[in-house]
Amino acid sequence: MNRPQQITVLGATGSIGLSTLDVIARHPERYQVFALSGFSRLNELFALCVRHTPRFAVVPEAVVARRLQDDLRAAGLQTRVLVGEEGLCQVAADPEVDAVMAAIVGAAGLRPTLAAVEAGKKILLANKEALVMSGALFMQAVRKSGSVLLPIDSEHNAIFQCMPGDFARGLGAVGVRRILLTASGGPFRQTPLSELAHVSPEQACAHPNWSMGRKISVDSASMMNKGLELIEACWLFDAKPAQVEVVIHPQSVIHSLVDYVDGSVLAQLGNPDMRTPIANALAWPERIDSGVAPLDLFSIARLDFQAPDEQRFPCLRLARQAAEAGNSAPAMLNAANEVAVSAFLDRRIRYPEIASIIEEVLNLEPVVALDDLDAVFSADAKARTLTEQWLSRHGR
Ligand code: NAD
Ligand code: MG
Repeated sequence: MNRPQQITVLGATGSIGLSTLDVIARHPERYQVFALSGFSRLNELFALCVRHTPRFAVVPEAVVARRLQDDLRAAGLQTRVLVGEEGLCQVAADPEVDAVMAAIVGAAGLRPTLAAVEAGKKILLANKEALVMSGALFMQAVRKSGSVLLPIDSEHNAIFQCMPGDFARGLGAVGVRRILLTASGGPFRQTPLSELAHVSPEQACAHPNWSMGRKISVDSASMMNKGLELIEACWLFDAKPAQVEVVIHPQSVIHSLVDYVDGSVLAQLGNPDMRTPIANALAWPERIDSGVAPLDLFSIARLDFQAPDEQRFPCLRLARQAAEAGNSAPAMLNAANEVAVSAFLDRRIRYPEIASIIEEVLNLEPVVALDDLDAVFSADAKARTLTEQWLSRHGR
């Protein structure tokens, strides 16, 4: 075996970051941690540095960086602490890095992820918001640098595994009719509609099958997550929105399916544990142990499917409309959603208002072309401002 691959984990203190480090630690002969980043919970970042001895750690501010640097030195570590977005881009693009796990949540992950793409790294993409915001530019950068882009989102990783190796030739050319994107339906799949105005952030974050960060947990409850994933699938697999169908599958055992013209439907199954897609992408095209228990079909016993109800999940409709409109629409949808979800988590708005605010904001602005990254960030900023204005207009 060659030297261990050097891995940068952006968003190391989060749910995906920790699962990634768990898989990496099982294979010290294959992988070494090059850099770790964290935005909050910096005691945890310190502990991760002690455990994984990275060359670099990245934190948001200089004051925090000095404290962490002192603590690391006192613990006898050589880890150098870098600061802010510049530090994130540096550890994403460093010539010694082989692969970058992009696991920062939200728009904040876009620049560092793109820095890794432009440097031609192998990209393990969890940060779907980055691709949703800037799909066309992102994919163009991937093609230009020759970066290998591997999906971590369990659904997209499943689709990737069910696609033929040459799917980049186009779905029609490889005989794919549709992509079937599965969704659990989240914690409110069966909650009476009249009760949704009273659900709490804690209830929204209590996902029945997956343990995840708070933002994606709320997105899963509203199914905005599935909407973002629909857009993500269109970019990753060069599909039209109409070729991606959402299927509610409450057990989260089938992680998605690919429907071929000959009537074959291929699915990937597994326990709902993100270490499976992470290990799959880390080792691709090989396979390694992820620590995930084998699937026990007898204890699962049955698999159910149902069509999503758009009245219950208006965010899914909004995302599909944004996918169809393209251009600035997905970036605006994503930004309005980030602000609305954070207001819901802070108890400033009620759960059903997440969708209604996003819809109002999207209706205020015409869809424009996004020719460069500045245009992406200005669409993002515009939607954030409009959403904040809605909140202050309504006294929230
Ligand atoms: P999380 O909230 O648990 O972790 C987010 C990470 O990003 C943390 O390390 C945090 O410190 C960092 N971060 C937050 N804001 C930041 C900022 N402004 N600048 C720099 N770093 C920042 O989230 P998560 O559940 O691990 O999700 C991470 C990404 O992976 C999201 O894009 C999510 O959609 C995607 N994803 C997660 C799961 C899952 O099971 N958790 C599944 C599929 C996709
Ligand atoms: Mg997913």
